[in-house]
Amino acid sequence: MIDPFGRHISYLRVSVTDRCDFRCVYCMSEDMSFLPKAEVLTLEELDRVCSAFVRLGVRKLRLTGGEPLVRRNIMSLFHGLGRHLTSGALDELTLTTNGSQLARHAEELAAAGVKRVNVSLDTLDAAKFHTITRWGKIDQVMGGLTAAKAAGLAVKINTVALKGVNEDEFDDLIAWCGAEGFDLTLIEVMPMGDIGGEQRLDQYLPLSLVRARLGQRWTLDETDYRSGGPARYYTVRETGRRLGLITPLTHNFCESCNRVRLTCTGTLFMCLGQEDAADLRAPLRASESDAPLDAAIAEAISRKPKGHDFVIDRRHSQPAVKRHMSVTGG
Ligand code: SAM
Repeated sequence: MIDPFGRHISYLRVSVTDRCDFRCVYCMSEDMSFLPKAEVLTLEELDRVCSAFVRLGVRKLRLTGGEPLVRRNIMSLFHGLGRHLTSGALDELTLTTNGSQLARHAEELAAAGVKRVNVSLDTLDAAKFHTITRWGKIDQVMGGLTAAKAAGLAVKINTVALKGVNEDEFDDLIAWCGAEGFDLTLIEVMPMGDIGGEQRLDQYLPLSLVRARLGQRWTLDETDYRSGGPARYYTVRETGRRLGLITPLTHNFCESCNRVRLTCTGTLFMCLGQEDAADLRAPLRASESDAPLDAAIAEAISRKPKGHDFVIDRRHSQPAVKRHMSVTGG
């Protein structure tokens, strides 16, 4: 699949549920309303759409959410999709998780062919963790990380950089990841969805600033390593681990975008930061043949926009897109 700007689309991210057992302050408001079940694709339907993308050239699949591991029976989807790894049609099957259910599932994920997991963790401080996630318990996540390591899964920690909240902790996080054998990626907060009282401007911390600060304590060697995602990577010389920076605001990464995103209702977003979308649920449910689905995917890719333009400043107080990250899948 090649889009109008000559980019190969080889990476599909799938939000398998809009539900989550955390309520991170920058992601959701506390009183979210969730989708009725009939609107959500069944696990069999999700397998069918993912398999269509694999047939059309996708080499990397990431399941996300909401929280993917709170969806009932989600392991059956991982096992089913694992067949594309075995056949060689897919290079990587992975997930992004908050880690709360990882202790239960780590071994089975590894058995399904998952090799790496991204675990979101914004702080090492238990009280702060509870404040950020509203409902989360850090011990559960730490248990999940221990289980992931024991199952042989490579771990990358994702940390959203929040001004005045965790900006004093990045050195500790780098040292901790070094000791645990994890890579770390810092992410700029993106203006997605109405999050209630919290103000984006208060949360936003440009990573250009953080990069300069980290350089005083750590030796950051630039690398040309790419994970197939949007991060730019450094090697931290003192720990030997990778540090990724995802900078949708200070430096957008659209020119190398190889991704599209499917929501749990079968809506395909060709860009994280634009409203334009394609409905894949109708062609999926209309026919047992995959031909209408394949045609709808091809049509959607032909509309992939050049990029997005997130801005957070005083003149832009509205979210750039109305939907929350939990809908599109981070
Ligand atoms: N529940 C899973 C998790 O916690 O990783 C997967 C879904 S979550 C939406 C995926 C990632 O998006 C998390 O790392 C989260 O911190 C991040 N995220 C959510 N809202 C964001 C925002 N407005 N800006 C930047 N990152 C955000």
